[in-house]
Amino acid sequence: MEYIRKKDDDISGYIENQEVVANTYVMRCFAVTMMVFTVAFVLDLLGIFVVDKALMIKAYVPSVIIYLIVFFISKLIPSSHRKKKYVILTGIIIIFTLMGVFITYHVVLVALLPFLYATLYSSKKIMNYVYALTVVSTIIVVYGGYYYGLCDANMTLLTVSNLENHLVDGHFALSEINPNPNVNLMLFYVLPRCLIYIAFVAVCKSIYTIVSSSLEKARLTAELEKAKLEAENANKAKSQFLAKMSHEIRTPINAVMGLNEMILRDSSEDKVQKYAKDVKNSSMVLLSIINDVLDSAKIESGMMELIPAEYELGSIINDLYNMISIRAEDKGLELVFDIDPSLPKGYYGDDKRIRQIILNLLTNAVKYTKKGTVTLKVAGKVDGDRAVLYFAVKDTGIGIRPENIDKIYDAFQRFDVSINRNVEGTGLGMNIAQQFLKLMDSELHITSEYEKGSEFSFEIEQPVINHEKLGEFKEGSFKVVENEVYMSGYTAPEAKILVVDDNSMNRMVFAAILEPTMMQVTEAESGKECLELVKREKFDIIFLDHMMPEMDGIEVLHIIKEQKLCEDTPIIVFTANAISGDRERYLEEGFDDFISKPIMPERLDEVILRYLPSRLVK
Ligand code: ADP
Repeated sequence: MEYIRKKDDDISGYIENQEVVANTYVMRCFAVTMMVFTVAFVLDLLGIFVVDKALMIKAYVPSVIIYLIVFFISKLIPSSHRKKKYVILTGIIIIFTLMGVFITYHVVLVALLPFLYATLYSSKKIMNYVYALTVVSTIIVVYGGYYYGLCDANMTLLTVSNLENHLVDGHFALSEINPNPNVNLMLFYVLPRCLIYIAFVAVCKSIYTIVSSSLEKARLTAELEKAKLEAENANKAKSQFLAKMSHEIRTPINAVMGLNEMILRDSSEDKVQKYAKDVKNSSMVLLSIINDVLDSAKIESGMMELIPAEYELGSIINDLYNMISIRAEDKGLELVFDIDPSLPKGYYGDDKRIRQIILNLLTNAVKYTKKGTVTLKVAGKVDGDRAVLYFAVKDTGIGIRPENIDKIYDAFQRFDVSINRNVEGTGLGMNIAQQFLKLMDSELHITSEYEKGSEFSFEIEQPVINHEKLGEFKEGSFKVVENEVYMSGYTAPEAKILVVDDNSMNRMVFAAILEPTMMQVTEAESGKECLELVKREKFDIIFLDHMMPEMDGIEVLHIIKEQKLCEDTPIIVFTANAISGDRERYLEEGFDDFISKPIMPERLDEVILRYLPSRLVK
């Protein structure tokens, strides 16, 4: 899409540019004509030169008129209305060509200018012809004024007697210049005419070439226009499909994960706890697959962008450890985190994506390793306020055949499918990692030995925000949260929360997650009900679903803002849409924050604690 739009800009830019070039040439021709005429007049006044004033005026006036018309048409009609220009200018050509036949030969030539101009806002080549033609023909008119009659001789037969006839009333006898009439005929009649005819032929040839190429260009532009429209429609359909799919799939996962969270919390039976933990792990895998598919589609449609913010490297490493250690342990693998303690703590970048890339690499390393060690190495070089961070994930797994290494970035590409039959995956992880790295001006390096192991590494440059040292990473020294049931660490019995969602299961999950905090959660199942409630009651935070029948979340928000229904209550959009750029779009609409479904209890608490007045939190 980007590409097509760029092309389109180029074409209109090209046309405008051509028009400027054409205008400049027309003005130059005009200036030359006027200058030659004026010089001839001045010379005539000074008595140095004799011109036929009547003939000069016949050429002078139509030239000025034609140039002025061309000039104003070029100014008044925008370059996008080429057809209109064609019609008007062609009319002028016809009129002036007819007039030219009766006035002077020169006018016919001058009349050609608008035609050339209209034919194309044109190539430099053709404009050079016109320019030369104007100069030559102008000089000939002056000639004609000097040797009266010569200019009108254009339709007569080229014979010495004809020439002499035309010179009868001239100011000078040609024989005074050269006694040989044939030389005179060549010099003053045949040669200038030939020059004009040659120029004419050249011009006509160029017109033909240019007209046909401009027709071709017009055809290509039309085709491009059509292709662009089709691509845009297809892209729109794809985005809508993505948004819908993402919503449709995430909504039930939200329910599964939320309800499962309640089972984990409420059940004390070991067997049930184990089942629920398995459900949780599988839901997480399902969610990550959906996210991968969405990410990959987003990348493909050019919708993916980085969202940089300040972050702490320690927190990324911590999260990665939490996310991968259990999986490594389950497979009996040794997990080594080799982190350079002297690295700075805080940076500016898209930590979410960095985490996602490394997690992809670590997950693969664990997936494709049966025994041995998986190592994450983090090192880097610091230069003032910038650091080049180096991340490498090494495993002692099945390795990759040399011929497959280059293909690893292709979407949906998986190798040794028969061996890896039981390993879940979509073949998108590497493709996504590589694309994200590209956005960060970096790339993934792979070294691998088949059946021995692989190493995936990359470097990224990040501005340093906090120069404090990262410190030792030892299991335990960074806060490591076991994959355990998350419990809110606060209560807020006086806080009033409104949750608006058309899906009753979602509302139930939401309320259940918040149950331990003892907050007063009010549920509304539509935008209309929400508006009625906020008119009656004051809430501390409102969570508003986006996609609802009748009135969607954005419309509800706009009504609340327009009617100033609850001016200082934070309104947080709560949606299953996870398309990139959504967050910004929601904030632009006027929401205070964004929380995506499935709702993670940690994230919900984080948002609530950020917006809830601290006096209510215990
Ligand atoms: P998948 O979801 O299949 O893991 P990826 O795009 O992450 O997709 O990886 C593509 C393929 O590259 C995998 O199917 C696997 O064959 C190979 N691969 C990726 N990482 C490793 C690794 N650490 N060791 C061996 N093979 C790997």
